Amino acid sequence: DAKSAGIGKLRFYQPSLKDKMQERIAFESALKEALTKQEFFLCYQPQVSASNGNTICLEALIRWQHPQYGLVMPDRFIQLAETMGIIAPIGAWVINAACAQLARWHAMGFSDLRVAVNLSAQQLLVSELEQTVSEALQTYHLEGKDLELEITESVLMQDPERAIERLGALQKLGVRLSIDDFGTGYSSLGYLRVLPVNSLKLDRSFVWDMDKGGKGLEICATAIGLAKKLDLEIVAEGVETKEQLAQLRHLGCDLLQGYLFAKPLTVDAADTFLENVHMPWLAAAHPDLGLH
Ligand code: C2E
Ligand code: MG
Ligand code: MG
Ligand code: MG
Repeated sequence: DAKSAGIGKLRFYQPSLKDKMQERIAFESALKEALTKQEFFLCYQPQVSASNGNTICLEALIRWQHPQYGLVMPDRFIQLAETMGIIAPIGAWVINAACAQLARWHAMGFSDLRVAVNLSAQQLLVSELEQTVSEALQTYHLEGKDLELEITESVLMQDPERAIERLGALQKLGVRLSIDDFGTGYSSLGYLRVLPVNSLKLDRSFVWDMDKGGKGLEICATAIGLAKKLDLEIVAEGVETKEQLAQLRHLGCDLLQGYLFAKPLTVDAADTFLENVHMPWLAAAHPDLGLH
């Protein structure tokens, strides 16, 4: 202990293995209860048109508000929920909540808006996803095209044959499918020919690198060119600077998402964004953005 460590030596509190295990067990049991305790909520991040700045889509991003742990971000619990085998009901809740919210936005007059939802591996490969999706669309009187499902490359590549089959089933519902974090996984380009997807989301690490003198610019240019050739929509994520914006527009990127436009927003903040931050406002406030 600190006393026996002697003068001049600092000893820091080191949680024992037992403490760590108890901590983890507590976190897991809190996560198990989060759904019934209604501790999850969704934030929405706009994806805007690179040509006119209109909000085309809002990506739903899950948050967990816990009385002790505070606001917990998805990177800390989605993977865990997957290993615990409880991602399916959480994912189904996300689909329903996002569809309910979109129906509200449609009713407010934003009738062309769509919503994007992230899927985890188990959701795509194992659960009764088609039923969840089609029921949610029916319940909220939405069309397939109103909903986009984002799947990461690594999820698709875990079992490509099965992924193709599953995406095909989802495509029959008319929903849009997109490959998230494109460029970071190990997908063979050949799969792009056979995966029934509508769009690619260029990973933010490449976008980040665009104006920093790295190879990001070339990678973005190549990915955008590839998407165009394959007739896929291309979305850039993590757009933070006006330089990135200018380059992405120049390269012909279709949609832009990132802190430059908006961080993930609570529903109230998203309402305000939709009502006030449409193109005339943005163009007037930032003429140098060249968004006309
Ligand atoms: P993602 O789908 O790639 O989502 C984009 C992430 O980048 C979000 O982090 C967003 O806040 C962040 N981001 C957006 N613009 C910028 C930017 O300009 N700069 C920087 N530095 N970051 C930006 P978030 O919300 O923490 O989500 C992290 C990941 O968690 C998501 O990555 C997604 O893979 C996963 N996730 C989020 N919600 C869900 C969900 O409902 N279900 C599943 N299965 N996964 C989810
Ligand atoms: Mg995503
Ligand atoms: Mg992404
Ligand atoms: Mg990402």
